[in-house]
Amino acid sequence: MAHCVAGERHRDHEGCSKMGRIEIDELRCKGCGICTIACPKKLITLCDKVNIQGYTPAQASSQELCTGCALCAEICPDVAIKVFK
Ligand code: SF4
Ligand code: SF4
Repeated sequence: MAHCVAGERHRDHEGCSKMGRIEIDELRCKGCGICTIACPKKLITLCDKVNIQGYTPAQASSQELCTGCALCAEICPDVAIKVFK
């Protein structure tokens, strides 16, 4: 079993996963959906509601499972996702 690294935040002792959190800027998001594919944890979906620009923006759920890998932010063509670790 892996051990926690001192000072790292983690979800649980079993996996010692680092935690992360994302924020999606709804006004920048064009609802392309690329981030929903990129997230290895499948934490991002497109919203049912249309934003002021007529797009269905991305939304994140179950953020306690986010590892902070930042793949979603790196792939977003509109720089609409910020990742916090
Ligand atoms: S940082 Fe990684 S795990 Fe978290 S939402 Fe983005 S792609 Fe998913
Ligand atoms: S990749 Fe960016 S623009 Fe596309 S749905 Fe995700 S947050 Fe929105």
